[in-house]
Amino acid sequence: MRSMELSAITENARRLLREIPAGVTLVAAGKSRTPAELAAAAEGGVVAIGHNYVQEAQRSVAALGARVRWHLIGHLQRNKAKLAAGLFDCVETIDSVRLGEALERAAAAAGRVLPVLIEVNIDDEPGKSGARPEEVPALARALASLSHLRLEGLMTMGRLADDPEESRGSFRRARALFEELRRASVPGAAMRCLSMGMSGSYRVAIEEGATEVRIGTALFGSR
Ligand SMILES: *Cc1c(COP(=O)(O)O)cnc(C)c1O
Repeated sequence: MRSMELSAITENARRLLREIPAGVTLVAAGKSRTPAELAAAAEGGVVAIGHNYVQEAQRSVAALGARVRWHLIGHLQRNKAKLAAGLFDCVETIDSVRLGEALERAAAAAGRVLPVLIEVNIDDEPGKSGARPEEVPALARALASLSHLRLEGLMTMGRLADDPEESRGSFRRARALFEELRRASVPGAAMRCLSMGMSGSYRVAIEEGATEVRIGTALFGSR
């Protein structure tokens, strides 16, 4: 599967987009894929591509430009905030006030308002990035008060398991937290995005209320 035909990627994109309900965004997880592979996904109708690393995203953006929206789905180091603010249409992985403030300064300097999500470590798993669930409400209020960031929701990896049913509880908890934030009507936030679910688990994630799924392998083949 390593070097999947470009036409097969385009066909996978079309098939996934037919399957995924309207209102759920497919973000192609583009780590380690070539610009030609990403372009093949765009050809099939993919409108957003996620990258884990700023440098890799720079190469892809240089090749594909504004044909798609660019999401950061990997951890952001504070010293990359300036690059990230110029590059991405959405940063999904804010997990601390400090990181949010660094991105706020960078977005202000770039003269733009940057959509962001809070990454939550929904099961509080040790060694995993993301804010702890109980930190999220205060973090949401802090981020929503920053005038050059627009808080739009939550992102989570959830528990990684071979059986997607094992992720269902994580997704359900993330959805509950998302709804709690919506009900709180945090001033300055527009909570409309719940990013969760990958190749093995996107169907379960959608059943549990995902508005965005991040899919790599099922689109591009195994890495
Ligand atoms: C790689 C990646 C995905 C997609 O994983 P697949 O199992 O290949 O679909 C989703 N989210 C993040 C943050 C990733 O790094």
